[in-house]
Amino acid sequence: MEFSSSAARRHRHHPKDKLLVIMGATGTGKSRLSVELATHFNGEIINSDKMQVYKGLDTTTNKIPLDDRLGVPHHLLGEVDSEAHGELTRSEFRSLAGKAVSEITARRKLPVLAGGSNSFIHALLVDRFDPEYDVFDERSDQPADSSKVLLRYNCCFLWVDVSLRVLEDYLLKRVDDMLNSGMFDELAEFYDPEEDHGPANWTGLRKAIGVPEFDRYFERCRPGEKGEWDRVRREAYEEAVREIKENTCQLAKRQIGKILRLKKLGWDLRRLDATEAFRAVMTSDSGKRCSEIWERQVLEPSVKIVKRFLDE
Ligand code: ATP
Repeated sequence: MEFSSSAARRHRHHPKDKLLVIMGATGTGKSRLSVELATHFNGEIINSDKMQVYKGLDTTTNKIPLDDRLGVPHHLLGEVDSEAHGELTRSEFRSLAGKAVSEITARRKLPVLAGGSNSFIHALLVDRFDPEYDVFDERSDQPADSSKVLLRYNCCFLWVDVSLRVLEDYLLKRVDDMLNSGMFDELAEFYDPEEDHGPANWTGLRKAIGVPEFDRYFERCRPGEKGEWDRVRREAYEEAVREIKENTCQLAKRQIGKILRLKKLGWDLRRLDATEAFRAVMTSDSGKRCSEIWERQVLEPSVKIVKRFLDE
């Protein structure tokens, strides 16, 4: 009795920190929206993409380029050395990102969490994190335990959604664009012929989509007889690209499944439909038209939601 009344008092005097959370599958424009909202509301961004926390492979993992960050501070983006540190666990992410939330709040700025790793997002946000519990494991017959999703922050959740068919078309194109803008060279440099490339070694950054797929290409395509190797090389390259495209679309589907799961368990996710903006990108409308649709259908409603949240 004594404890609960003092806990209630503490709660009254220390309301939970406010946090803006931007969720969505890979490729849906979370990074762009996070910078736009952080600029509008004086925020700082904390990355919650499992692969982008690591140093290196900036193109392969799709880190937002420095110019596009528009001076907004980004935390946990390319900060962890995967080789020296090993794989970043959910508990470690919870503690690093939790510290970042406190520091940003202490600077009287708005912390904005953005990234596609729903297990990291869940680990950071829940009141009581249990490393043994997998909230996304739907195999068990047990009813979902909603006490496992109670929040330790006052969260405003935005979910950027794009219809899967449009998103898949976009992702296929994005892989080609990434390959044209340096992904292959980046992976060639990352590849170490001395290393064991078996699944047991796929940890940390080596799990990034692109690494295992191209490891197989680099293994097979050492220099050889020219004519024959040209054909083998081309086929191996095409196979790697095919696998990357397939794995990226699978990732998007899994991420959407996880977001729906968290919604079902009670997280109040506000869905923003960016399908039309992406459709405009895919039908090669002018960049200006895409931006107009994005602003009207994604940015403006987001600004309204966040404004209301901050005024509460
Ligand atoms: P899981 O439990 O499956 O790891 P998660 O929600 O914790 O899911 P996700 O962010 O969905 O984490 O990442 C799952 C996998 O998808 C990663 O291990 C990696 O293979 C791939 N992946 C995720 N983000 C990226 C990225 N930015 N670049 C390349 N690959 C990525």
